[in-house]
Amino acid sequence: MTETDHETVTAGYADRIGTLLRALEIDPPAAGEMLVHSPIDGGVLIGLRPDTPAEVDTALAEAAAAFGSWRLVPAPQRAAVVRELAVLLRRHQDELAELVTLEVGKIPAEARGEVQEMIDICEFAVGLSRQLYGYTMASERPGHRLMETWHPLGVVGVISAFNFPVAVWAWNTAIALVCGDTVVWKPSDRTPLTALACHTLLRRAADTAGADRRIHQLVLGSAGAGAQLTDDERVALVSATGSVAMGRAVAPRVAARFGRCLLELGGNNAAVVGPSADLDLAVRGIVFAAVGTAGQRCTSLRRLIVHSTVADDLLDRLVRAYRQLRVGNPLEPGVQVGPLHGPDAWAGMWDALARARGDGGEVLCGGDRVEPEGLGPGAFYADPAIVRMPAQTEVVREETFAPILYALTYDDFDTALALHNGVPQGLSSAIFTTDQREAERFLAADGSDCGIANVNIGTSGAEIGGAFGGEKHTGGGRESGSDAWKAYMRRATNTINYSTELPLAQGIRFD
Ligand code: NAD
Repeated sequence: MTETDHETVTAGYADRIGTLLRALEIDPPAAGEMLVHSPIDGGVLIGLRPDTPAEVDTALAEAAAAFGSWRLVPAPQRAAVVRELAVLLRRHQDELAELVTLEVGKIPAEARGEVQEMIDICEFAVGLSRQLYGYTMASERPGHRLMETWHPLGVVGVISAFNFPVAVWAWNTAIALVCGDTVVWKPSDRTPLTALACHTLLRRAADTAGADRRIHQLVLGSAGAGAQLTDDERVALVSATGSVAMGRAVAPRVAARFGRCLLELGGNNAAVVGPSADLDLAVRGIVFAAVGTAGQRCTSLRRLIVHSTVADDLLDRLVRAYRQLRVGNPLEPGVQVGPLHGPDAWAGMWDALARARGDGGEVLCGGDRVEPEGLGPGAFYADPAIVRMPAQTEVVREETFAPILYALTYDDFDTALALHNGVPQGLSSAIFTTDQREAERFLAADGSDCGIANVNIGTSGAEIGGAFGGEKHTGGGRESGSDAWKAYMRRATNTINYSTELPLAQGIRFD
């Protein structure tokens, strides 16, 4: 199967796209050479026209112009746009979820969950609009007041990955808009349809709320369009989600012009399973985290670090659970594991398994390509694999974006922690234990070094209320809940003298 063959097949679901766009009241987009494949059967859903550099420039200019007045709209009024967006997302949850399934291959339950995440963050942002608090500090000078105020930052460039085509956009956009920023979004070139739908709904929400619709711009294209956002002085914050390689390219370019960067990059997430763990609960948590979205979540569980006394029992149970998984067309009821996103993903999985075997790994189950009936050779499905490894070799330390779970064993907790933290990435982590000391140590300063550390739940499926992001090569960014909004605003420290004297700080005299 060559790439050319791949492109010539029309997806069996191409007709659904027209129906869904009509239900969303979206005009048919301009046709072009940017082909959107459905991973379900590998065929082409639609061809769209990518934006030219001049069009990207226009989008940036419009977002920058809109910022001038948007930043002056009171935050609770800005929230009206986000409130309207939530109404539209709820109304169109089914259509949007189906688009996510067709473009990404997620099973409907996960696709619907992703749309729900958009609704949740909109509701969070509406409340946040009345809580953009700054501190008041005690001044050391008589008759003085010291405080900080938070102001809108500017244009936020959102670059997003294929695997969360809409939730990540909403995390950024809902917060950025209430903070008074305008947004230019460059989605993955593999998922432009869901982006087009969200962009249209957001502009409709802006119209209903009586806001300037230029506050949101969509630019379609590949890495080149993303690089244009990265390099443009008008973009105050580049919020980029994707691979570590992408972050490596983006971060120095933004830094070179003293722009701000919020990076959400790859993970290599592990769960420690202690000798006291509730194994029934652990099995359920591990299986969902490892095979959900066919192992294509940034938070997917990729490494299992199991105490040697429970390793055989746990691995037996996991293998039994894996053998019951249904891999296939995500639109069929009962399927739990949908497709990989394309031939490259399958090649990456195959290569990683070959390297793991070469390092002495034993494949306990899965690892083969699956060809569900009627979907043709252009689709890439894989049987999720569990590989027992003698050591944490190079391949285990890499993020392979596919359903491979490497199992390692340990005898003492320090070794478990050293294995856990002994990878370049630092996104999500978990421990399964009923030993409180072990749980607390995992969460302590010398425990898990990740941005997310869980006890007795898996590594994936974060709630929007917490700040989301990771350390080390994951990039250090935080978005979504808690005080992540601060990345989207600039802080000013204000000192106000209401006395008739002019005392200097630190008691300096300058007569
Ligand atoms: P990717 O890095 O190939 O692409 C991500 C986005 O970056 C796309 O929009 C792409 O066009 C753009 N891009 C690529 N190179 C660029 C450049 N030089 N300049 C500007 N933009 C550029 O990633 P992907 O394959 O779409 O997604 C999978 C990866 O994303 C995985 O590594 C996964 O872990 C990661 N991810 C991380 C998070 C997180 O929150 N930490 C969330 C989702 C996905």
